[in-house]
Amino acid sequence: MNVLVTGGAGFIGSHLVTALAARGDRVVVLDNFDTFYDPKLKRETAAKLKAEIIEGDLSIEADVAKAFAAVGQGAVVVHLAARAGVRPSIAQPALYSRVNVEGTTHMLEAARKSGAKRFVFASSSSVYGARSNPPFSETDSIDRPVSPYAATKVAGEMLCATFQHLYKLETVALRFFTVYGPRQRPDLAITKFARLIRRGEKVPFFGDGSSARDYTFVEDTVRGITAAIDKSWPQFEVINLGGSRPVSLSEMVAAIEKAAGKKAVLDRQPDQPGDVPLTCAATEKAKALLGFEAKVHLDEGLRRYIAWLDSDEAKSWR
Ligand code: NAD
Repeated sequence: MNVLVTGGAGFIGSHLVTALAARGDRVVVLDNFDTFYDPKLKRETAAKLKAEIIEGDLSIEADVAKAFAAVGQGAVVVHLAARAGVRPSIAQPALYSRVNVEGTTHMLEAARKSGAKRFVFASSSSVYGARSNPPFSETDSIDRPVSPYAATKVAGEMLCATFQHLYKLETVALRFFTVYGPRQRPDLAITKFARLIRRGEKVPFFGDGSSARDYTFVEDTVRGITAAIDKSWPQFEVINLGGSRPVSLSEMVAAIEKAAGKKAVLDRQPDQPGDVPLTCAATEKAKALLGFEAKVHLDEGLRRYIAWLDSDEAKSWR
């Protein structure tokens, strides 16, 4: 199979590219090595991938065209590239809109022009907004996002639905629930906490510790994406990829302390604007349509993450 993966040098993308290459797919990556976090980390990762790397920007049509020319007609597109991160999107809403909304539009337009086989879109649990009544089901309303980032993901889903309606381009939006594991983005809590706890430095701890996330190990997320790549989508679908096992911030810190064998020094701070109190995936649809179930328990995932942090590969990430 020919697959175009945008954001393939990033956290989730690099794991996906590795899994696809291992099963014999031909993979082309479009990534601009953006500066949201140190591009050196992404370049090191990309150098090890078995894929053709096109360095280019989603929000530039000519760069998108170059990537589609490289992968050829009829490819499967997995669109993961985005400006990620909730809090930074509040400071730079127009940038998030340009990359995540305009960039996604360029991708969809190029996909339908090249007769792409299907289009898998990386959405997010953040579309559910600030709710405290779990689990979050795909049929729930998503009309109250609480950050520009979340709003751009809602828009991305809507654009996928539109292109399926207009052009019969097969589209599916996967809502990822807090993904973690080796090469996790440095801005995300588990990476930040693990590094600081291991160094014995103060850990910024927002709110009272009760906010909770449905953490998903990256290997599980990649299995879900791969299942979506392999399936036909006669109508637009939205599917949660999570485990329905929310873990509070306090429990997460305790789990990292256990995995790292060291106590955290907490620097307590108020709740941050844009943050949601809870994420928790309803999992029935993923099971029914993708045969997907999150398998890796947080303790096991953290143990594997900390083991990776100790490995040679993670030298630049410590
Ligand atoms: P990441 O930042 O590690 O990866 C994103 C990649 O996209 C990076 O390699 C980056 O260089 C690239 N990119 C950014 N802007 C680009 C542009 N303009 N043109 C081309 N490439 C560009 O992030 P990630 O955590 O791997 O996230 C992947 C996707 O999953 C994103 O769409 C994100 O919103 C979504 N998501 C992630 C999580 C999570 O917990 N990590 C949760 C929900 C949704």
